[in-house]
Amino acid sequence: MKLIILGPPGSGKGTVSERLEQEFGFLNVSAGELLRKEAAKKTVNALKIKRTIEAGKLVPNHIVVDMIKKHVKNKRKYLLDGFPRSREQAEAIEDLKIEKVLNLDVKEEVVIERLAGRRVCSQGHHGYHIKYLPPKKAGICDVDGSPLIQRKDDVPSIIKERFKIYHSETEPVAEYYRKKKILLTIDGSGSPEEVYRNVKKALQIS
Ligand SMILES: [Zn+2]
Repeated sequence: MKLIILGPPGSGKGTVSERLEQEFGFLNVSAGELLRKEAAKKTVNALKIKRTIEAGKLVPNHIVVDMIKKHVKNKRKYLLDGFPRSREQAEAIEDLKIEKVLNLDVKEEVVIERLAGRRVCSQGHHGYHIKYLPPKKAGICDVDGSPLIQRKDDVPSIIKERFKIYHSETEPVAEYYRKKKILLTIDGSGSPEEVYRNVKKALQIS
């Protein structure tokens, strides 16, 4: 099955993708990660991508599209994450014959509660949430005793902005697939377990 997953920051998209990969073997294709890897290579194309990203500009459509297509060539089971970003990109991958598009729908308040409560260890990758996954001692990492910090973009004003940008960018893509009748909108406001269960139900896999 060829899938796309759409969802704002804090929608639990990462968890759903990971679990679909673990349980069903979907190849997880993150456009952002692929671009970063590509940019790290020592080719002419890589240099172009690197310069574009560093200049804060969007990498041209054909480069991203070619990269994705090359990556999923001859693959039957994958999940595209962070792509397509526009209607134009969606049209450009028409030949991939995407079967279903998962659209994780979650309200702004829920996203704010999830993201604004996040804390990360200042030393490593250990993550916490003041309500859902609190450390044993407030403000201190359980694993290594380092102070916990809040990421700069995890504050409500910036979360609201990211949420708004996400929706204006993604709405045309969602609409494109809605018209094709392959958009599956899933309530993303429950626990990770509930959201994942709803995803599986929508995909009719178990
Ligand atoms: Zn830590």
